[in-house]
Amino acid sequence: KNKDVHTMIEAHELLKKFYHHLLINTKEGQEALDYLLQRGFTKETIEKFEIGYSLDSWDFVVKFLTKRGFDAELMEKAGLLVRKQSDQSFLDRFRNRIMFPIHDHHGNTVAFSGRVLNKNEQPKYLNSPETKIFNKSKLLYNFNQARLHIRKQEQAILFEGFADVISAAASGVEHSIATMGTSLTDEQAKILKRNVSDIIICYDSDSAGADATIRASRTLTSIGCKVRVAVISDGMDPDDYIRKHGPEKFRNDVIGASVTLTAFKMQYYRRGKNLQNEGERVEYIEKVLHEISSLKSPVEQEIYLKQLSSEFSLPIEVLKEQIHRSSGRKD
Ligand code: ATP
Ligand code: MN
Ligand code: MN
Ligand code: MN
Repeated sequence: KNKDVHTMIEAHELLKKFYHHLLINTKEGQEALDYLLQRGFTKETIEKFEIGYSLDSWDFVVKFLTKRGFDAELMEKAGLLVRKQSDQSFLDRFRNRIMFPIHDHHGNTVAFSGRVLNKNEQPKYLNSPETKIFNKSKLLYNFNQARLHIRKQEQAILFEGFADVISAAASGVEHSIATMGTSLTDEQAKILKRNVSDIIICYDSDSAGADATIRASRTLTSIGCKVRVAVISDGMDPDDYIRKHGPEKFRNDVIGASVTLTAFKMQYYRRGKNLQNEGERVEYIEKVLHEISSLKSPVEQEIYLKQLSSEFSLPIEVLKEQIHRSSGRKD
């Protein structure tokens, strides 16, 4: 069994190198390379993240691997091949995609995520399935390269997508990681917590990203992490932002301007609410007060109470009284 694990990793390592070669050096990979360069990926970044290209072929990988002595059935278990329904013959899983190798936390290549070139094809990203060597819920993308930076900076930046991590790292924000296209799991949070307590969440600025920010923040704070949020503007994602505004603005105006989780929630709870409407206003204020009441630091509590008090022209004593009552304590 141990030998199988070793063989599966070896196949991934070999294929990673070949996918990369196809992207960089061949006519077949030219379109994919052009796409990446036009997107703003540099040659250097492509090298660093060992990005590749899988040929538009049904059986290139089948041949590539079996010729080198890899057992096709084992390669199916490794997620690199699939089986045709009709005759049980083996086929390549990834075809005509930009290939992002995924490394485990020791640096072994254990999976791929393949992105389409053509926007209209589905799914946009195709991931390796769960295998003996690839457990999505326990793995953070780029953790292996980011770990030392995370330790040194005593901070980690959590993104939604591979492209965001790659752009951020290329912009000098090297303590960057992402989940595998799913919500942050408890296991992933615990792995982070073993290395660092301060996490900045920098998700896409669409509403899915905002919802996911709230979910991830719960997972992180519940195990004692300190969370801040770096907010991207105008419906962009971090990678879009970097492309449009450049690395320096990203570092200063996004990461450097991250807000506390409470400040983020004060914005978040507003969405879709009409605060001119009295009922909705009260509901909003109560929600925020509930957040404030859960803060441990009295200084922080005071800061947000003041903010709320001045925004809605309510005496701070009234807000405190409200917190007091809803916490169920009686004098
Ligand atoms: P790009 O900039 O290349 O279009 P993105 O990272 O902005 O990609 P999103 O749509 O924001 O893509 O999705 C975020 C992440 O979710 C992706 O990086 C990927 O890990 C995952 N993901 C997106 N679409 C799929 C999919 N169809 N299947 C599996 N995972 C996906
Ligand atoms: Mn998204
Ligand atoms: Mn995105
Ligand atoms: Mn994107």
